[in-house]
Amino acid sequence: MAGKYVAAIDQGTTSTRCILFDHDGKIVATGQKEHEQIFPRAGWVEHDATEIWANTREVVGQALARGNASTSDVVAVGITNQRETTVVWDKTTGQPVYNAIVWQDTRTGKICDELAALGGGAERYKDRVGLPLATYFAGPKVRWILDNVDGAREKAESGDLLMGTIDSWLIWNMTGGTDGGKHLTDVSNASRTMLMDYRTLEWLPDIAEEMQIPLSMLPEIRSNSEVYGEGRAAGFLAGVPISGSLGDQQAATFGQVCFEKGMAKNTYGTGNFMLLNTGEEAVPSENGLLTTLCYKLGDAKPVYALEGSIAVTGSLVQWLRDNLGMIKDAPEIETLAAGVEDNGGAYIVPAFSGLFAPHWRSDARGALVGLTRFVNKGHIARAVLEATAFQTREVLDAMNADSGVDLTELRVDGGMVGNELLMQFQADVLDVPVIRPEIVETTALGAAYAAGLAVGFWSDLDELTAKWAEDKRWEPQMDSDERERNYRNWQKAVTKTLDWVD
Ligand code: ADP
Repeated sequence: MAGKYVAAIDQGTTSTRCILFDHDGKIVATGQKEHEQIFPRAGWVEHDATEIWANTREVVGQALARGNASTSDVVAVGITNQRETTVVWDKTTGQPVYNAIVWQDTRTGKICDELAALGGGAERYKDRVGLPLATYFAGPKVRWILDNVDGAREKAESGDLLMGTIDSWLIWNMTGGTDGGKHLTDVSNASRTMLMDYRTLEWLPDIAEEMQIPLSMLPEIRSNSEVYGEGRAAGFLAGVPISGSLGDQQAATFGQVCFEKGMAKNTYGTGNFMLLNTGEEAVPSENGLLTTLCYKLGDAKPVYALEGSIAVTGSLVQWLRDNLGMIKDAPEIETLAAGVEDNGGAYIVPAFSGLFAPHWRSDARGALVGLTRFVNKGHIARAVLEATAFQTREVLDAMNADSGVDLTELRVDGGMVGNELLMQFQADVLDVPVIRPEIVETTALGAAYAAGLAVGFWSDLDELTAKWAEDKRWEPQMDSDERERNYRNWQKAVTKTLDWVD
């Protein structure tokens, strides 16, 4: 094989990255660029899909230049993306008809309520799609665009518009765009639309009809590891096979080599997402988790996961930085928090996009409680970090209840796991060891692994498993009375966020 690297494109919520991995799974070079977060109104979050595509091309160029590599050094490209974020575009002009509506956006609350009112409530589609009706998912976002953008519905009905999560948008552009671009998605992203049957892996026409989404807009559903096409966009990895695509959390699970039933990872980024591999069995949740696709490799049987999604974790740190100006950059929160012994009695529940797992309350709004004259910046910084750990505890408890087995350790990754104070507190409130691997860019790594497997760059899952290496482990140190007292206070704080909005 001539090429020596696999390129992974990681299109995240805050930035787009391209990472070149070598055969050992080591990072050779990285390109990265942030994109604009557009907040047109309270609760609305948008991205400019055109900017994201331009950034994708730019970061691929950066990574190649920094790695002294050319297109011929790249054997395959894998894609991973922020999931649920939805684009509707015109297939003739190649232009989006509206900004991408981001996963955190809550504007579809009314649409979800109306669908729930048709019967069955929020669980109307849950037995078929694994998800409760919530603003998080893609289907209702498409409906909102068709309802609210002038002329969009007519165009959609005459077959001129395509919809997709960001993976579809990138693959369509990468494979030629208006000049024969392929309109595809993968099972993991499709499982976040509310439109795919998680057992048959096919679109559900009756749900699409209820959501008033023409079937002609939907991409073809493919596995996570197969050759979808090759780079055809000008100056963009021409001729390189595009052979892996997974939603970011599934990619991180893959990069953490959670290939065995019962293995779990938690990613700490803009939000937090814990996935537990449940093997070839799709487990319905009784405790507010999602039943979702984990991965499907080519023609092999699909592997499922239970997922606990938390909307706001790292983005609360950004809020402290950008909206309150209390820190200059994200790592500074650790210094500030380390200046005090505990949270001073303060708790922050960041229900900025409602509450996701395990509550699924779109109407919840954030709360800062337990304030006294004693509380200072350090305590607030601690409360911000602790919010991530407590929300994770809620999800872990739900996971243990659903699976009937207690997790004995947690593999972690993502931007926040550099924060040692948070990691120790996390081990303390979960009462299980928290383990960070050497490569924390597991999202990109998982996409690279899926792409590399499809073209024979790596031979099988055992080869990938052998590459995983532990970097650091945090053991629980807190005594159980203190842990449970803290957690009870947190649960009390959560109740203050509910029934807030009319
Ligand atoms: P995403 O892939 O969702 O865009 P990343 O995995 O890149 O996110 O993580 C970025 C997030 O992590 C940001 O929200 C940032 O606030 C947070 N973050 C980064 N470094 C730290 C740190 N040292 N302590 C706390 N939070 C951090």
